[in-house]
Amino acid sequence: MTITSYNPADPTDLVVAVEEPGAEAVRAAVGRARAAQGGRLAAGAGARSAALGRIAEAVEAHAEELAALIVREVGKPLAEARGEVARTAAIWRYYAQAPYEPSGAVHETAAGPGLLLTRRRPYGVAGLIAPWNFPLAIPSWKAAPALAVGNTAVLKPAPEATACALRLAELAGLPADVFTVLPGGAEEGQALVDAADVVSFTGSTGVGRAVVRAATGRGVPVQAELGGLNAALVLPDADIDLAAGHLAAAIAGYAGQKCTATSRVIAVGAAYQPLREALVKSLAAVDDSVCGPVVNAAARERLVLAVDSAVEAGATVLTGGRVPERAGWYVEPTLLTDVPAEHPLAGEEFFGPIALLHAAADLDEAIALANDTPHSLATSVHTRSLDAALAVADRLDAGMIRVNAPSSGVDFHLPFGGTKGASHGEREQGRAALEFYTVSRTISVLPGGDA
Ligand code: NAD
Repeated sequence: MTITSYNPADPTDLVVAVEEPGAEAVRAAVGRARAAQGGRLAAGAGARSAALGRIAEAVEAHAEELAALIVREVGKPLAEARGEVARTAAIWRYYAQAPYEPSGAVHETAAGPGLLLTRRRPYGVAGLIAPWNFPLAIPSWKAAPALAVGNTAVLKPAPEATACALRLAELAGLPADVFTVLPGGAEEGQALVDAADVVSFTGSTGVGRAVVRAATGRGVPVQAELGGLNAALVLPDADIDLAAGHLAAAIAGYAGQKCTATSRVIAVGAAYQPLREALVKSLAAVDDSVCGPVVNAAARERLVLAVDSAVEAGATVLTGGRVPERAGWYVEPTLLTDVPAEHPLAGEEFFGPIALLHAAADLDEAIALANDTPHSLATSVHTRSLDAALAVADRLDAGMIRVNAPSSGVDFHLPFGGTKGASHGEREQGRAALEFYTVSRTISVLPGGDA
């Protein structure tokens, strides 16, 4: 079998074709990575820090080439692709400091003399499984903390983002057994979950749940970042034009293919009518520099069928809803209203430039609607009142809450993740990731005698 990825804006453009390595190759790569891990740890904090710093520099030195590759392979608009490359460099640079951070603490004994220490140690081989939508940043925010604390890592990228991952590995310039990128699909992913010492997965909810079951069944630590069904609450006192601009970016930016994209807009009370008009205008004005194509023909087909069936079930299209007549897998930015609550568009992540507009009589109803999902990843709140923003943020159960900003986007050094079914295990990014890739050991040192 061959793994291929095609340019979503020009489906005749084959970006890469590589032989699928198979499960045995994954087991062999994990075995080599395990053999290399002790040496990596012994090389010391300085060597690990320098290696990560060099990767940040290499990414920056090839920024335009990498941004162009992201645009070509996954259809991300250029401005966002450049942002992802800058974020990727920042991630490697941030974690380049981590090897020098304290790895534990000293405690007093409960009774008698002695020294009690805790020390965090790496697990061994980190098995990293990534989705295609952030083809450099997500592999990096998994690999950088894993490597910083002395693990070795085997990354299996999504097939749609194979070329980006292979180029990242080349630029990283680490010995192959320290950081291996192994292209593949479900077979290789499963083999990696079955062989690694610690597993980090980002992707869709169904696959992620299976990965969590397989890893926990082996007693191996696992984190999973899954899909979101993200809401935006617009309060009556909000600056409606500003909110509409943020919402258009959160709905249609990168064709809605972010786990933190907004798919449900909830207008509270008097905000509904002006917001509806402003949002229709903002979405209709979105162009290719913001939206871009969806990742493949199957994704486009799924979105179009979902909109058609919602309309058959009584929904109204306020803007968009069609496939433009042009090459590439494009879908118009779309706003729907009156989608029946039991329709899949109301309850599942669709990963496209589509949102549902709801009216809520008051704040209580809006919060209840926002929280009525197991996929509680990111929610935005739009208001001029700081009191209201903080009070609403307190009652939302999402993992990430953004005030007067699109639901998508969180700084790279903060914990990233959702609640309920959107995440499993320790947070990614920031210091939380360093904890995830290490286990704490308790060392009790007692006096050895009279020497
Ligand atoms: P996907 O679930 O189809 O694939 C994710 C990865 O899992 C790929 O590398 C894939 O090859 C691999 N895989 C497939 N089957 C597997 C199996 N049985 N065992 C092990 N690995 C397997 O997701 P995708 O289409 O690549 O990415 C889009 C999804 O990712 C969306 O649902 C999106 O919300 C989610 N996502 C979540 C976050 C987050 O942090 N919460 C971030 C980005 C994307």
